Amino acid sequence: VEKNQLLVIMAHPDDAELSCYGTICKYVDEGVFCSLVIATKGENVIRKDKTPLDRLNETQKAFHKTKIDISCLNIKDGNIVHDLNLMRVLKKIIQEINPTTIISHYPDEFGYEHQDHTALGKAVISCAFRYCKNLRMLLLAEPLFRGFTSFRGNHFVNVSNYYDDKKLAIKKHKSQYNKHYTNVKFLKNRLVGFSPYINSFRISNNKYEIFESIYTID
Ligand SMILES: [Zn+2]
Repeated sequence: VEKNQLLVIMAHPDDAELSCYGTICKYVDEGVFCSLVIATKGENVIRKDKTPLDRLNETQKAFHKTKIDISCLNIKDGNIVHDLNLMRVLKKIIQEINPTTIISHYPDEFGYEHQDHTALGKAVISCAFRYCKNLRMLLLAEPLFRGFTSFRGNHFVNVSNYYDDKKLAIKKHKSQYNKHYTNVKFLKNRLVGFSPYINSFRISNNKYEIFESIYTID
C-alpha cells in the first residue's frame, strides 16, 4: 500500500493558511505526512518594522501545532515565472517527496489573481502530470477574490472543526497590514456559504475550504 503524502506548494507565506489550513490539519490528523513549500518570502508586502524572514517565521508559527515540514524556494516575490528553472525545482521536490496529493494555486485564466499564483499553479500542474508517480489528487485552491475567475469548485472539505485554529493561524501573520481578507468576517463569509456552487452551504453553519480537483483516482 502506497503511503499517503501531501505536498502543498504556495506562492507566499500566508497563502496556505488562507486557502487550505483546515484541509492540511485534516490530513495531518489522519496521519498523512505533509510538506509545505513556499515559493517566495513575500517581501513585497511587509510592515516596516518586519523583515522577510519574519514573514516566514509567521508561517512556522501558524503551523506550529501541525509539525508539518516547511521550506522556502526563495524566489523573488512577484517574479515567479513558469519556465524551465521553476520546472526543474518543482521536479526535484516532487521526486523527493513523491506525493499522493498536491495542493496549489488555481491558475486563473483571466489574470484576476496574483500573477505569482497563476504562474506557480500552472507550473505545478505541468510538473504534477509529468513527474508524479503516485498522484491521486491534484487540488487547486479557491482564489481569494471572486471576480472574473473561471474557478469552479468541485471538491469541498468541511473544515468546521479547524475553523478556530485557522483564524489563529492567519492572525500569526502580523507583518501584514490589516488586509481585508485576514479579517474574521471575510474569512467566515468565504468559508460559510460564500460558494455559489452548493446552495445548502448557506443553510448549514459548516465551513468549507473549496478546491477544483483536476485529477482524482479513487
Ligand atoms: Zn499569495
